[in-house]
Amino acid sequence: MEQPLLFYSTNLQAEAVPFSQALLRGQAPDRGLYLPQSVPQISQDDIAGYSGLPYHEIAFDVIRRYLVGQIGEGELRELVRDAYDYPVPLEKVSGRKYVMRLDQGPTASFKDFAARMMGRLMQHYLKLNGQKLLILTATSGDTGSAVANAFFGLDNIQVVVLYPRLEVTGRQRKQMTTLGRNVHVLALDAKFDDCQALVKQAFSDPELEHLSLSSANSINIGRLIPQIVYYFYAFSRLAMENHPERIIFSVPSGNFGDMMGGILAMRMGLPVKKFIIATNANDEFPNYLETGKYEKVEPSRNCISSAMNVGHPSNLARLVALYGGMMDEKGNIHRPADMALMRKEIFSVSISDLLTRETIRKAYLEQHVLLEPHGAVGWAGLMEYLKINPMDDRQEQLCVSLETAHPAKFPEEIRQLTGLDPPLPASLEGLDEKPEFINSLPVDYLDFKKFLLTTF
Ligand SMILES: *Cc1c(COP(=O)(O)O)cnc(C)c1O
Repeated sequence: MEQPLLFYSTNLQAEAVPFSQALLRGQAPDRGLYLPQSVPQISQDDIAGYSGLPYHEIAFDVIRRYLVGQIGEGELRELVRDAYDYPVPLEKVSGRKYVMRLDQGPTASFKDFAARMMGRLMQHYLKLNGQKLLILTATSGDTGSAVANAFFGLDNIQVVVLYPRLEVTGRQRKQMTTLGRNVHVLALDAKFDDCQALVKQAFSDPELEHLSLSSANSINIGRLIPQIVYYFYAFSRLAMENHPERIIFSVPSGNFGDMMGGILAMRMGLPVKKFIIATNANDEFPNYLETGKYEKVEPSRNCISSAMNVGHPSNLARLVALYGGMMDEKGNIHRPADMALMRKEIFSVSISDLLTRETIRKAYLEQHVLLEPHGAVGWAGLMEYLKINPMDDRQEQLCVSLETAHPAKFPEEIRQLTGLDPPLPASLEGLDEKPEFINSLPVDYLDFKKFLLTTF
């Protein structure tokens, strides 16, 4: 096999490792995040060839470039075909403006794209080596259910999910708690950031080393790479043949894993004109982009787009690294990023709950497009961008805004704003009748540690 691509840590203190090790570790030993030492390139001809390929084959061709020498092509082909067995609709809103619906997977959130691939890749390597793994993941709603669903029933993997009791909807909770078996769910009276902090502390605790902890949060490079694919997919379906053009993407963002997939796609060669990073009231990134100074939002602000209530995006260190800077895991900047380049490629805006709701209502009543709060933040971000940049507000400019969850996950909000009861996708049916398995835990590291040591 060929020499593998190596992955370095954004904290620059750990050795570079091949994909399989970065995947099974999650976080690097120096608490940094893994990134490829060089970004694989895709030629414009190869990109043009994607227009005739189904999603899973595009996924194969993009992902294999990060896994050279790490998995057989036949095996990888099987994994992607198995992971991506659901549609990825591109819904026209007006002219060449589209919503890409990433909500057709088994848990009706875009996180299925990453979790299903990561679970299958982990299982592949664990089986090869006869190893076991304990996955710890903090969730503000959708990660937990996507990860739990993707790992449910796998022999070599146990999963512990921590969630903030008041920040997830009943339906989101049931998607995690009705599984059981190797999926253990902990409810905390805390914020998402507190759950995340407990998980991070466990990773750096030497007394837990024997448990082979790993993470399924968006810090895992195995989650990031699958999220590159749908950017290529959207372009392959919508770009005009034989006519070079550049696309605008709007990405509703929280921990910035989704957006990082897009930035990597651009670095691989995808012709992107602009990335719009739309946040809710947690506006640390738009402020940073404007001023070059980074300040976390502490505590994070509760918004209706709850999966994006993040006051310090864990993937920000990766973004800063790709722009030549260095940020540690606490958010301290040790070397500034190239802010001029970042501003050229990225536009960022914070969208209030008020505007989010207005966007859901208007999109439905005026354009017959049903959005949920996260997708509405993305769409509102695109509208704000076009308002400020009228040169790009042309009929022929291709724009795609990402819809990251199914509207049926937020029935009360949607009903109030549109009068419509969003139809439940088949994957979410029958949840109400199933029994739930939940443990409660105080927000205390020693209690969490004790739980881990006595359970596993
Ligand atoms: C997780 C999530 C997001 C945010 O994605 P990041 O990769 O954390 O930026 C947006 N929308 C929904 C529905 C999510 O579940």
